[in-house]
Amino acid sequence: MKIAFIGLGNMGGPMAANLVAAGHKVIGFDLTAPPPEGVGQATTAAAAAQEAEVVITMLPNGQILREVAKEVIPAMQEDAVLCDCSTVDVDSAKAVAAMAADRGLGSLDAPVSGGVGGATNGTLTFMVGGDDKSFEIVKPLFDVMGQKAVHCGEAGAGQSAKICNNMILGVTMIATCEAFALADKLGLDREKMFDVVSTSSGQSWSMNTYCPAPGVGPQSPADNDYKPGFAAELMLKDLRLSQQAAESADADTPMGKLASALYAAFVEAEGGKGRDFSAMLPRFEKRSRS
Ligand code: NAD
Repeated sequence: MKIAFIGLGNMGGPMAANLVAAGHKVIGFDLTAPPPEGVGQATTAAAAAQEAEVVITMLPNGQILREVAKEVIPAMQEDAVLCDCSTVDVDSAKAVAAMAADRGLGSLDAPVSGGVGGATNGTLTFMVGGDDKSFEIVKPLFDVMGQKAVHCGEAGAGQSAKICNNMILGVTMIATCEAFALADKLGLDREKMFDVVSTSSGQSWSMNTYCPAPGVGPQSPADNDYKPGFAAELMLKDLRLSQQAAESADADTPMGKLASALYAAFVEAEGGKGRDFSAMLPRFEKRSRS
């Protein structure tokens, strides 16, 4: 396939490289990041898009996505599909889908889970919103870049699934960290704590797979001085998106709201920026009840 790839950063770069390795022709555009080997370089986003059958975007936020979509959609071929893999707010995902539909183009919102490791190894999970026809066209590319693609529903459904998942992740990571800090103060050995909880009803991905306590459980960023992994500021971004969506859908999400406030304090005032999101554990270790 002829593919345009716009946004070649930490995630987009390796995703584009995997498409090239699978035999696709990829033309890329990024404001700063150089294209990986084998990816052609266009001088504008519109120039990258004009001959592509599928235009993939992997950008920092919804505002930038809207700007890029405004530039790219008029330049696209008539039967081409726009597929956004960034994590953005549900309203921007729907607005971009509407822009594409106005030109008679198919589009998908297809955010990912799996981080830079998943992007590099081609093991991402895609959560996809949009029409069936576009999903079928892009599915072979999802199969190259990832291990699973779930078609969640209409436009916006992929972003909805992503932020609900990450709201659960943020909340369970905080609960796991505060429970470890409590266990410490109660004199409980961390290994015993892990042994019990990881096989009891308190288990979760945060505890079992990504344990925030160094030296306990499988290898995780805690074992590498909390170098990300999944940076605390990216967790904050996703929690804020969950609260923006909860506002617009009038959903009561008290735990999501509190998790968002705790990660905001951690990132903006407590040195959490640039650290893994599981570094909430040393934060709780230092604190007392008052
Ligand atoms: P990044 O900052 O490394 O890459 C974004 C790229 O977009 C940059 O290279 C930037 O130059 C480029 N860009 C910005 N504006 C542009 C424009 N107008 N035209 C062309 N290029 C432009 O970020 P990333 O880590 O690759 O994340 C990309 C998206 O994936 C984000 O929405 C993020 O939330 C999501 N995501 C990231 C991870 C992760 O672990 N890094 C995991 C899941 C999802």
